[in-house]
Amino acid sequence: MSSHISLDEFMAAILGGDSVSAAVQEGRCVSEPIGCGLPVFDTAGNLRHTMPDDAPEEYVAEWQMTGLCADCQDALEGIEDEDVKRHSRACADYSAFLDLWAEMLEQDDD
Ligand SMILES: [Zn+2]
Repeated sequence: MSSHISLDEFMAAILGGDSVSAAVQEGRCVSEPIGCGLPVFDTAGNLRHTMPDDAPEEYVAEWQMTGLCADCQDALEGIEDEDVKRHSRACADYSAFLDLWAEMLEQDDD
């Protein structure tokens, strides 16, 4: 019997009712204040990214895991660097949560 709750269940509590799967299904970032709620891809189907990286597929993979668009992923890293102030404490909490989740996944890797 598994006592694990799903990532979605866990995140729904943090995301205030939004979910990663809903965001991914709708091709958008998760709702504010964690994400920005904006489309992840532009109208041409390309990754929407203020500072384009040469590995957009990595951002897409990350988005499918976390529900965060490329810009929000950058912002989240910025919080760790303390040079991006755009996002709130809620976002920093989300970052801490994702780290925790990653640890849980590693422990569960069997
Ligand atoms: Zn976003």
